[in-house]
Parts: sequence; C-alpha cells; structure tokens
Amino acid sequence: MLLDATLADLGEPKFRAGQVREWLLRGVRGYDGMTNIPSPLRAELAARVPFTTLELVTEATAQDGTVKALFRTTDGHAVESVLMRYKDGRRSICVSSQSGCPLTCTFCATGQMKFGRNLTPFEILDQALHFRRKEEINHCVFMGMGEPLINFDNVMASIAYLPEVGITHRRTTISTVGWLPNLKRFIDEVEIPVRLAISVHAPDAELRQKLMPINERYPLSEVIAECRRYVAVRRQKVFIEYVMLSGVNDRPDQAQALVKLLGRTDFKVNLIPYNPTGGIYDGSSRERIEAFQNELTKGGVPATTRLTRGRDIQAACGQLAAERTPAA
Ligand code: SF4
Repeated sequence: MLLDATLADLGEPKFRAGQVREWLLRGVRGYDGMTNIPSPLRAELAARVPFTTLELVTEATAQDGTVKALFRTTDGHAVESVLMRYKDGRRSICVSSQSGCPLTCTFCATGQMKFGRNLTPFEILDQALHFRRKEEINHCVFMGMGEPLINFDNVMASIAYLPEVGITHRRTTISTVGWLPNLKRFIDEVEIPVRLAISVHAPDAELRQKLMPINERYPLSEVIAECRRYVAVRRQKVFIEYVMLSGVNDRPDQAQALVKLLGRTDFKVNLIPYNPTGGIYDGSSRERIEAFQNELTKGGVPATTRLTRGRDIQAACGQLAAERTPAA
C-alpha cells in the first residue's frame, strides 16, 4: 500500500510502518501527533500519503448524543456511519461495507439509492477511526450501507484491525441478509469470534420476499438452516434482526410464526423500531412492539427491543446519502 511504498522509497527502516499504523489505530488526529516519528518524515508523509481515505461531507449530532457522519470516497462515493452513545458506557459504531447496496430491500433508504461499489478495507476502517479520534469506541456492527457478506474479504480485512482500535472481535457483529455462499465461508473459514446477526424481518417467505427481494435467491429456510449450523459449530446464538413495520409484519400471529420458525434455543431476536425513510412504510407503535415482544417471550424466544437512536438526525441507514444522491 501507499504508506509502505512511500516509507520504502524514503529509505526508512521497516519498523516505521508499524509505528505509523499504531498511531493511526489509536486515533491520532494527524501526522503531527506521531511524536516518535522524526519531524521531517512526518512532513514528508503529510505531503505524500493522504491521512484518511474518506472526506467528511457532513456530520450531525442528535439530542441523545448519536452522531451520524456522511463521507465521500476519493472517487466520489457516499458512505455513512453512526456512533451511538449509551448511558452504560457503550460506544457503538455502525459502519458501511458498500457505498449504496445492490439488494433493494423495500423499507431501506440505501436500497433505493444507486449502488456504488464495495468499500476497501481502509475505507471501512477509516469510518471507525473517524469516531476513534473523538473518543474511545468499544462495539462495532456492520449494519450501515451495504451487504457485508457480498464484500466478504474486505470486511474481514478491516475487522482484523479493530481490536487495536479498541473493539474486540466478540464486540463486533456482522449483520447480513444471509448471503449464502459467503455465510458458508464465514462459518467454515473464520476463526475469530465475530458475532452474526441475520436480517429476517418477516416470519414467512412470501412477506419476506416483498420486503427483501433477495429472499428469492437465498430463501429464508436455507438461511435459517445455515444459522443452525453456525450455532452447532460456534456454540453461539445468532441474533435475528426484525424491523417493526406498522400493519405489515407486527401482528401477534406473525410473532407466533416467528417462534415456530426459530425455536427456543438457537436465536435471540432484536426488534428494531423503524425510522421512517419517507417511503411506503410506517413504524409500529410502541404498544404493538411490546405486544410482539411479549408473544416471542411467551413462546420461549429471547427478545429485546432496540433503543431508538438519532431520530432527529435521520439516523436510518442511507437517509443522509439519499438526500444527496439520485435514486437507483
Ligand atoms: S437493508 Fe441492508 S441489505 Fe437491504 S437494501 Fe438496505 S443496506 Fe442493503
């Protein structure tokens, strides 16, 4: 990469690259802050190696402390990331793995945008480093723009650096629609304890297909079967993401169908209040979500409801970028 090539070109010893990388991952704000690097070399690096792959376009902070950033890659693609601050000290970032998304889920602002491309490992890592320069961060979920398992190799390459940024693998979660070929690779090849979350959003194939056209290619039943294999291999539960859409997937009988689909042992459901994106769906009421959660609990499936974050700054994935990008 450019940093290594530049240091080699300047005749620097091999350990320099490690020193620079260590500073970067600890959240230093510029080459100037790398105090064990000789000053002339810092100036040379500043002139020849861009400090980050992403340019910040805009950033907004919600009343609850959630920060949402919109970046642009050097070739002009939009990338969104969110920092969520919780009272218990958790500092969780939600990062993008692609600019836009090719999967066109009908409730998702990103899915309605024009797809850009896969992000590189450093474009993913630089989202984390942007927030690390503000404060310590300790959780990461790949739930921003894009389907992370389509960009499997780059996502895994970026995750390798996260512990040095302060985010252990156990506190890193990949959220996927169940992109089967790479879900299989994730189960069979990845040895680090990264968590797995599956976007289900409907208890039956017919409704899921309407919400997530990918269901035709990779059916829910096959995705769930693969999840059970993950549980058997890793001895870890799989998180099920279920976005609550008013009058669409939030009836008690749909909760019962979800219980039947999942069973009592392998899964934990995370109900997600919907941030309306100006499209055809509304979010379920709090009462409706509570009733749905109770039905799951009654059926023996552990379930929680995600705290709503950043409503006043359009924190749903793709909303900021959609404002500035033409639709697909
Ligand atoms: S919900 Fe996820 S997979 Fe679906 S279109 Fe949006 S970003 Fe892509």
